[in-house]
This record gives sequence, structure tokens and C-alpha cells, in this order.
Amino acid sequence: MRFVDEFRDADKARALASKIAGLCEPGRRYKFMEVCGGHTHTIYKHGLEDYLPEQVQLVHGPGCPVCVIPMGRVDDAIHIARRPEVIMTSFGDMMRVPGSGGNFFDSNAEGTTIRMVYSPLDSLKLARQNPDKQVVFMAIGFETTAPSTAMTLLRAAAEGLDNFSVFCNHVTIIPAIKAILDSPDLRLDGFIGPGHVSTVIGCRPYEFIAGSYGKPVVVAGFEPLDILQSIYMLMVQLHEGRSEVENQYSRVVPWQGNPVALKVINQTMQLRPYFEWRGLGFISHSALRVRDDYASFDAEARFEVPGVRVADPKACQCGEVLKGVLKPWECKVFGTACTPETPIGTCMVSPEGACAAYYNFGRFSRKRVQEVTIG
Ligand code: SF4
Repeated sequence: MRFVDEFRDADKARALASKIAGLCEPGRRYKFMEVCGGHTHTIYKHGLEDYLPEQVQLVHGPGCPVCVIPMGRVDDAIHIARRPEVIMTSFGDMMRVPGSGGNFFDSNAEGTTIRMVYSPLDSLKLARQNPDKQVVFMAIGFETTAPSTAMTLLRAAAEGLDNFSVFCNHVTIIPAIKAILDSPDLRLDGFIGPGHVSTVIGCRPYEFIAGSYGKPVVVAGFEPLDILQSIYMLMVQLHEGRSEVENQYSRVVPWQGNPVALKVINQTMQLRPYFEWRGLGFISHSALRVRDDYASFDAEARFEVPGVRVADPKACQCGEVLKGVLKPWECKVFGTACTPETPIGTCMVSPEGACAAYYNFGRFSRKRVQEVTIG
């Protein structure tokens, strides 16, 4: 297949769904987690749950970069931005992530300068254009976006810029998956592996899931047929009694990952001993900070950062949604107090967040409408 329409062919989707149904053992239920927020978005946008047999359930994982940022880190960023000499920058999705006293837009209304950028290189440009200011890039995301932050750090060092730094919030996917596997709350039959992250880390880091936990993993692309095919591949493995790592997205994901991207991450960043994830708590070795060799570009070394831990609002059940324990609509404030316009939790902010994806598309699914009508 070469064109995007071919990956969205409804007849082929129905054919795959019927092959999946054909592999369901009578009386058995199957629960697969799609780790990546991009998959969640596709599943709801294209109504893929409507194609699947009743016995196959999809639950959403922690792979939305914005969703896992805890309130305390938003507050820390605002604390840095309150310094008069600072221009804080970050990706657009971060602008509406709630901290304990409001989001970046609220903070700007009170006098800070927090700007949206499309790339860390835009922040570097701002630093060159504003030599009398300190430009801080709030870096977020998994291994997918870490290479661009790493390359920007290398560029800043090569140019000898002394008014640019990174407030590093990059997280790593494997410890989060392990935390979910060790959680007693959830019993899963397999994983739809994250496609974007895997372009960088490859498929080998998932081998412990198949080997030690006996759960199959299929790294999947982001079109509807990619996801249905990956579910079919998971079902075939279960049917044959196998648990292996397979790569459905081989047109993009190299098995060994991207050695150049991994090298620059390793050159400029190192693992933190632990990091707080929204809803998941502290997970050891699950995030990156700027390596000591580049400390002059580390906002946490350059500025005082309070590092206060802030509890999520009582009504917020993002943690349960991120662990796949709750479906978005099961949160008490979903669609009422919490909407994309007025998000209480992070899962309602980014289009990759399960709550936002479900709010925008999933509530119109045939299955859901039936459930509500019958219920
Ligand atoms: S509806 Fe809002 S508060 Fe509830 S889980 Fe989703 S994002 Fe979090």
C-alpha cells in the first residue's frame, strides 16, 4: 500500500475484523493496551472499536506526552517564567495543561512571557534574537521528541549561547510499561506497541514484556488498518500460544531503532533516579535530565526550581485513565466539568489524550450510543 486512503479501506477493515473474530475462543475476553496516544486518537477518530468483536477490548495507556506531566512541573515552569528576564517556550499542547494555580495562558495574563513554539530550534532562534533575555525551552515528550531537544542542546553549545537553557521533562516509555505490568489493577493480554517512540528505540527494549511477563507486543503504525492488523497479529500469537515482539510498522520502525538519535540523547541527557508521572506516581529511572557536561544549558541548574509536589484535583481520575483502569467516560467529571475547553485533567488537553480523543470522536461511536441507549 502506498497511499493513505488504502490504509483506511473499510472493506479491508471489515475483513481484518472478521479474521480477528474468527480467532476469539468462546467465552474468553481479550484486553489489549494501546500504549501510544496517537493510537488512541486513531481508534476513536475512525471508530475502530465498532469493528471489533465484543470479546476484544482496547484500553488506553500512558503514551500521551502531555498527559503524564504532573501539576508540580507546570508550577515549576511558571515559577521560572516569573523571573523578569525569562522567556519560557514550549509546545502548544503544554499551554493549556493545568497547574495548581492555572495554566500557561493564565500565567501570561498575570505577566509572564510563555510562548508556544513548534520546535526547540524556534526557542534557540528566540535566544539569538533576544540576547538580553534568558530563553528557556520546556522540553516534554518521550524518546520521540528527545532527539530534537538533544540536537538543539548540541547546537546551542556549538554556538556558545549563554542565554538558552532547557527545562527537561523528557520521559522514557519502558519504565512506565513495566509499572503498568506490575500494577495489580490491570490484567492485559498484550500490547499494541508505540510506533513513534519505536522509530527511535526500536523493538528490542520490549522483549522483556514478551519474555518475562509472557505478553505479546506488536509495534503498530497509526492508520486504521495498521491498528487492526496489529490486533490480528496479537490474536494470532495468543491463538498459537506465543508471546513475542513483532513489528507491524516495519515500513517506518527499524528493529534496532535509530542509532544516531540514541547517540545524541545519550550524549546530552542522562536518566534521573526517579520522576513523578501524573497519575502513576514516582517511577524510577523513567525520565531524562540534561547531562552534567551541558549543565550551563540546564534550566534546573541555572534557576531556582521549587520542585513542590502537587496533588491532582480530587475530581480528576487521569491516573486511572492513563493506567487503562478506567475508560474516559467513567470519570465523574467527563464532559461536564471537564471538557477540551475547560480541562481539569491533562488527558482532556492534547488531541492524543484519551479523554480528548473520546470527547471529540468516541462519544459518537455506534457501540457507545447503543450502551447509553440500552443502559
Ligand atoms: S475527564 Fe478530565 S479529569 Fe476525568 S480523567 Fe479525563 S481529563 Fe482527567
